[in-house]
Amino acid sequence: MVTKPHSKKIREQLLSMYEVMRARFGDRHWWPSTSGCASPEGKLEICVGAILTQNTSWSNVEKAVANLHTAGCMSVEALGALSAKKLAELIRPAGYFNVKAKRLGNFITCVRERWGGDIEALLSQPVEELRAELLSVNGVGRETADSMILYAAGQPSFVVDAYTGRIFRRHGLIEEAADYETIKSFFESHLSRDVPLWNDYHAQIVETGKNYCKPTPRCDGCPLRAFLQ
Ligand code: SF4
Repeated sequence: MVTKPHSKKIREQLLSMYEVMRARFGDRHWWPSTSGCASPEGKLEICVGAILTQNTSWSNVEKAVANLHTAGCMSVEALGALSAKKLAELIRPAGYFNVKAKRLGNFITCVRERWGGDIEALLSQPVEELRAELLSVNGVGRETADSMILYAAGQPSFVVDAYTGRIFRRHGLIEEAADYETIKSFFESHLSRDVPLWNDYHAQIVETGKNYCKPTPRCDGCPLRAFLQ
């Protein structure tokens, strides 16, 4: 397929933006899992973290994840054996703990009932099937599902968050009204299907958004300053 000149220009700009963020922040080594990303426990921890991180800061998620480890509950079997009350108690630091305990419970039920508790089997499905299955779990939304696919399954599914929309709207690359799927497809159609690139690209966006592209932007000092038109 011949790349249109316009697409080629956007692709080059996206890669240049990535390079300057990476030069500023370094490799972010995502996902920040304490169990690594290769073992079944590490993959489960990423999925758990992806659910717990909804509407809270990462430091709160770390405390909840540490509680689960300390209680010996970072396994599908152990999480499945916990009562909703006990699970909510352990993940309390992540906030909205009753809702999140229910969501986590729904995810664990999916792994147990459809995959016999084998999280690697769930995650090794082709991306489209995996995404559809994750999105069918009550409480797993698009960003959570894509985080699980990219970081736990190691498969290409670009993760979009509020920072992604804000930064690339402010730079005139995506339209004001663009929804999650439109933004995701914008990145996926302009960047090659390169999991390490997509992994670190999202992490760099988070770092830029967290430090500079706040509701009131701090453009002075931001690595993406030179890309403002
Ligand atoms: S803070 Fe300014 S320069 Fe940085 S990403 Fe946001 S709009 Fe762009």
